[in-house]
Amino acid sequence: MSKHEIAVIPGDGIGNEVVPAALDVLNTVAEVHGGITFEFTNFPWNCDYYLKHGQMMPEDGLNTLQSFEAIFLGAVGDPAKVADHISLWGLLIKIRREFEQVINIRPAKFINGIVSPLTNPNDFDLIVVRENSEGEYSEVGGRIHKGEDQIAIQNAIFTRKGTERAIRYAFELAAKRRGHVTSATKSNGIFHSMPFWDEVFTETSRDYPETRTSSYHIDALAAFFVTKPHIFDVIVASNLFGDILTDIGAAIMGSIGIAPAANINLNGKYPSMFEPVHGSAPDICGRGIANPTGQIWTAKMMLDHLGQQELGQKVLTAMEETILSGIKTPDIGGNASTKEMTEDICRRLKK
Ligand code: ATP
Repeated sequence: MSKHEIAVIPGDGIGNEVVPAALDVLNTVAEVHGGITFEFTNFPWNCDYYLKHGQMMPEDGLNTLQSFEAIFLGAVGDPAKVADHISLWGLLIKIRREFEQVINIRPAKFINGIVSPLTNPNDFDLIVVRENSEGEYSEVGGRIHKGEDQIAIQNAIFTRKGTERAIRYAFELAAKRRGHVTSATKSNGIFHSMPFWDEVFTETSRDYPETRTSSYHIDALAAFFVTKPHIFDVIVASNLFGDILTDIGAAIMGSIGIAPAANINLNGKYPSMFEPVHGSAPDICGRGIANPTGQIWTAKMMLDHLGQQELGQKVLTAMEETILSGIKTPDIGGNASTKEMTEDICRRLKK
């Protein structure tokens, strides 16, 4: 019997609706499998917590989280109560940074039963590996002078270590999939960092002679996500390029409510964190109609990470079957509630 200890932070808004739904699915997985159990520990850290305590998590919050195998997070943010930069930097970004979650992965897949905005979605199934710790999102730079003499300098940081580990991660992942890695570059326009990125990509690829490689400039690659996403398997990208590509990935799937994500710690010192792409959706919160599948697919990614790939696949299959059967929340064209959709997925898992 393997036991997995998971820290659960539902967070704000619909996080409190979709996280319990995903936990129901995980508990069903455990019940059906018999050889695995989950111990979930709930942490009520969110904007209400901030209003009471003046901080998004306790002083020793990170220490507390460190002992868990993984963190399962809903959504953070309630801009009517707490400014976004306080809630995000006080919880979500703090965990990502302090726990050295240097890789962000986001799959995008054509799901039968959801209308993609693409006319011919052609069964795409891709995953973006995004460098999550440096690149264009750095605090290095500054501003000087006022008025028309104003200057702003923003430096992008590309270390060999950071670049290579993201690229290597992509190759390792592709070896378990269809064996094709595409690099997102822009070496025709960005003079230093992108030729460097290309060099590291080429060097690293030599360790994976079986893997097919492609390299596209980010502008063309973004267009291909729309015109022929089925040509991709694993795409590796810098922090900014990956950020943009993954939003296109969520868009071509048909709803942000189904898109999952994971922030991966590679050195084993800290837990990885699993959170869907969507936010707290204050506009639909409390109505029981939030789409739970982004959070449930995120649970599938956590199962994969815990070494339970077979169970992860079962969750994804059940989710796809439920959608195909028409039991869908309003964001994907149905009239089912969060609860009805979740119950149907659990029922299929028990079959
Ligand atoms: P944040 O700043 O936290 O990202 P946001 O409102 O800008 O918040 P989302 O919370 O992702 O971004 O919401 C964007 C839109 O997508 C909203 O209209 C929301 O209702 C919808 N949405 C997001 N997640 C879901 C979901 N799981 N189910 C249904 N609709 C969703």
